[in-house]
Amino acid sequence: MAARTFLTMFNEAKEKEHFFSFKHLICAIGFLTPDKRLKAPLNYSQSLSEIVENSKESIVRNLCLNPTLEKIPAFETSMLKDLVTFCVSKDYSDNDLAQCLFLMHVGKTDCHKLDENKAFSFFCNCFGNFRSIDTQFDITQNELFVELKSIFSILMSTKAFTDAINNSIDKIVVPKANTGQFNFQNLKLIFFSSKFRTIYGYSGKDRLYVNVVPIFESLEKHVSEEQKILVIKLNFIRLIVHEASHVLLRFKLDDLNLSSPFLDGQIKGGKVFKNIKECGFETEKEFFKGCIDWDASMGRSINLSYCKEYLDKILNGVLVDFDISLANVFSLNIENFHSSGFSIRLEPDLYML
Ligand SMILES: [Zn+2]
Repeated sequence: MAARTFLTMFNEAKEKEHFFSFKHLICAIGFLTPDKRLKAPLNYSQSLSEIVENSKESIVRNLCLNPTLEKIPAFETSMLKDLVTFCVSKDYSDNDLAQCLFLMHVGKTDCHKLDENKAFSFFCNCFGNFRSIDTQFDITQNELFVELKSIFSILMSTKAFTDAINNSIDKIVVPKANTGQFNFQNLKLIFFSSKFRTIYGYSGKDRLYVNVVPIFESLEKHVSEEQKILVIKLNFIRLIVHEASHVLLRFKLDDLNLSSPFLDGQIKGGKVFKNIKECGFETEKEFFKGCIDWDASMGRSINLSYCKEYLDKILNGVLVDFDISLANVFSLNIENFHSSGFSIRLEPDLYML
């Protein structure tokens, strides 16, 4: 219903050569009534093509629920044309699936600490470039991606690793008798190219999407080859830990459109024990004893031998406590962090993706 109203209002604005305002859409669909301010859940068990088809309602409602979008006065209709094309399309491809999950996360990005211009740029960038997400990236063009893929396979078949992710989510989700165990062997790693520089990745149904652009940028850094490769691998492991825990949370609560910290409804429903700022960060803390900004740590005097030893242990299926101060890496205070459905690299200009 929200998606249909969006298309009608967009076409009207386009015909009259007016700007499009989410605020008007929010009024039109009655989102100003508190009990109507609800996200549209997307059952985890649906087929992939059903997810793409049914995601459109969730995407539009997520955008309408974003308090910043409500305040942004208006968009030129040309800025939203790809979003509209996506919403009316009946097609299904791997790229459509990746793009639909990306769009679902856009509306859930908290921009309240940004000034209006930056928030506007963030949304324009997302709406203008989401079609650049291309999952046909050929990993054989660079040996590093082949290595990362094999690291992923090792992690997914290491019980200590998957147990640690399960334990982290078990602290959040109330166990339910008929929810099966998530099979990490079914989790697919998908590298994608895009025009987004600072999005590390995001998750979907049984899928982890990893953006190759920040990895290529890390390869350009002026630090030793050894440090570069080591940091890229450890940051990749961090990303897998983070996004795999999102997959597990959504699987257990049977909603692909679910995001922490918006679990209040689930608490009332008795499905989760507590609200959390970000389940991906909670799981990172279990692994690394903090949320490490590996990119910002590059170039500092990282204790390479310690980090290398830690990586070797992980790749041999041994999980040991990570010592941030011994490693001499930089960790983030996630309380200062904007919550987002993506895993993003913090830059001074935070949301210039
Ligand atoms: Zn996250």
